[in-house]
Amino acid sequence: MSNMDKLQTSIAYLKGVGPGRADILGKELGIFTFADCLNFFPFRYIDKTKFYKINELLPNSSEVQLIGKISNLRTVKQKRGSRLTAHFTDETGSIDLVWFKGAKWIQDSIKPNTSYVIYGKLTVFNGMFNMPHPEMELLSTNKASLRSALQPVYRSTEKLTNKGINNRVMQGLVQQILKEINGRFEESLSTEILEKYRLVSKSEAMFQIHFPENQEKLFEAQKRLKFEELFFIQLQLIRKKVLRNIKFKGFVFKEIGDHFYQFYEKHLPFELTNAQKKVLKEIRKDLGSGAQMNRLLQGDVGSGKTIVALLTMLMALDNDFQSALIAPTEILATQHYNALVELLGEMEIKIDLLTGSTKTSKRKQIHADLLSGDLHILVGTHAVFEEIVQFKNLGLAIIDEQHRFGVAQRAKMWEKNHLPPHVLVMTATPIPRTLAMSIYGDLDISIIDELPPGRKMIKTVHRFDKNRLAVFHFIKEEIKKGRQVYIVYPLIEESEQLDYKDLMDGFESISREFPLPDFRISIVHGKMKSADKDYEMQRFVKGETQIMVATTVIEVGVNVPNASVMIIESAERFGLSQLHQLRGRVGRGADQSYCILMTGSKLSDDAKIRLQTMVESNDGFQIAEVDLKLRGPGDLAGTQQSGVLNLKIADISKDAQLLFLAREEAINLIKSDPNLSDPKNFLTSKTYQKIILNKENWTNIS
Ligand code: ADP
Ligand code: MG
Repeated sequence: MSNMDKLQTSIAYLKGVGPGRADILGKELGIFTFADCLNFFPFRYIDKTKFYKINELLPNSSEVQLIGKISNLRTVKQKRGSRLTAHFTDETGSIDLVWFKGAKWIQDSIKPNTSYVIYGKLTVFNGMFNMPHPEMELLSTNKASLRSALQPVYRSTEKLTNKGINNRVMQGLVQQILKEINGRFEESLSTEILEKYRLVSKSEAMFQIHFPENQEKLFEAQKRLKFEELFFIQLQLIRKKVLRNIKFKGFVFKEIGDHFYQFYEKHLPFELTNAQKKVLKEIRKDLGSGAQMNRLLQGDVGSGKTIVALLTMLMALDNDFQSALIAPTEILATQHYNALVELLGEMEIKIDLLTGSTKTSKRKQIHADLLSGDLHILVGTHAVFEEIVQFKNLGLAIIDEQHRFGVAQRAKMWEKNHLPPHVLVMTATPIPRTLAMSIYGDLDISIIDELPPGRKMIKTVHRFDKNRLAVFHFIKEEIKKGRQVYIVYPLIEESEQLDYKDLMDGFESISREFPLPDFRISIVHGKMKSADKDYEMQRFVKGETQIMVATTVIEVGVNVPNASVMIIESAERFGLSQLHQLRGRVGRGADQSYCILMTGSKLSDDAKIRLQTMVESNDGFQIAEVDLKLRGPGDLAGTQQSGVLNLKIADISKDAQLLFLAREEAINLIKSDPNLSDPKNFLTSKTYQKIILNKENWTNIS
């Protein structure tokens, strides 16, 4: 049997495992085969290469190894039983050792005036360093023994421990399998790549990842395995993209014509920012390429995505194609529609709005105009996706995602044509570049990384609940100046009832503090009928009310330029990206805007970092990076569908450099050998096929 075959052996056949333990290993750790076991990497290592001196110890040194002598053994009586303590001394100081069990055996076996190596976890007790139940070994024995200095620690669970599968057993299993296959693995990367990035071989990496000889070798093994993992993910994404370009021919928008130029020269109300120009060039190139565009347009709130959308739709129109612009809510769709109508002025372009509440007669007319080609641009909600809505020749679909549509819904648009329209997805949620590459690696990405000129920084402060009066006073001053104010309460599903109560209590106290007739207040929350919500929202938009009390429903793109203050209640309960989105509701007009983050006095460390980040930064990308570091990719939107959650060893936030290299290399490879048929890429191809096959098996099962 070859090693490759051996690796597929069920773990039950390994000596010391058997059916019972195999079952638990599968259920708890997903280990079914020999290969799974070897691919279950240690999550940390005990470093016994370093010896500390006692005067170097810090309260957070956790596990340390020391050399010294043991003295002053004595038994201390306590409530239940007794404990044994001792001094442990080196030339720089001393600490206490303590045992709660096994005192007799220890007392008898410890040799006085002899050097020991001890290892264990440090705690601080009565201001003294203290090591309970240290591992001990005579210095002479330690010096004579030959073993790997860094010891692997595998993740475990209670069920595993109960079945006697502790760390030592895991080490044993891994060791056994490595022996079975003589430590030899099939290489998965080409010699070219291995040499270019100075990566160690697969066999070397797999051995060193479990039993590293030293930190250096461990690092090399990690680097190699991380690269491999990221490389094969990127390879899949990039192949998908290439295949799609071959499979999905796109409409060719050959020229930029009258509509575009007329608008650009006569109607454009401002000069485009360089970032907007750059993005338009990228889009223009796609539209002329002959392949279907699949582009993600990222731009912070207020960065000016709407105008980019409009100019793109004019390119479609100049080539006799219709466009659709789809927004996640009715309010947003209506706002888009109004904004576009205003921008287009008296230009002869037919544009209409289709939402859930469009009247039947109007609806019928829209359907007819779409089919005849009289209607050029349709703005709408997901109502546009409905079967009955058919276009004469839809050439472009722009989806203002704001986070609400999933990848799946994007595909739906395609069914409306024999050829799929070009697709531009706009999102206001900045995603760190590393994450975008991993989730949307098969899309092209454009970024507007510059705000229109003259925009004022939103001043952000953090205030504790006890200073609420001062905050209310500030709100009154702003309202006197003619401004409007948002006050937002959290709404998190699990504690919906409680949140609702908070909101209502808050509303009541605000009503008392800001009485009629001087102040008028709107309230909007998820329990209201959508017609009532719209009514209240409209009152605020029109300036009939000065304060909008709301749950996070308003997060989704409302535009009220006169609103200049955003108060976020219980701000510690919001994630960074949500805080940033909420703050983006203000700062849309000419006035200085403010964001006040209200919190209680007890804050977790993470909450403090989030608040501080908000106070210090207005840059969505910078905030997204901090968010990724704090939470890992798991909590960020979009990661569920992507592989980034299941990464075995790489970490897209910490291993950004490697990710960029892996992507670059994957692109190079696909460019030079699209079908991976060159003999020198044989090993890569084989591994790639195996991954794809595995994936297909899984999708068939689930
Ligand atoms: P978002 O990216 O959040 O959708 P919008 O497209 O709504 O942003 O633009 C925000 C505001 O900035 C709008 O009032 C728009 O008219 C204005 N704007 C957009 N681009 C520019 C520009 N290049 N110069 C000046 N103002 C601009
Ligand atoms: Mg927008």
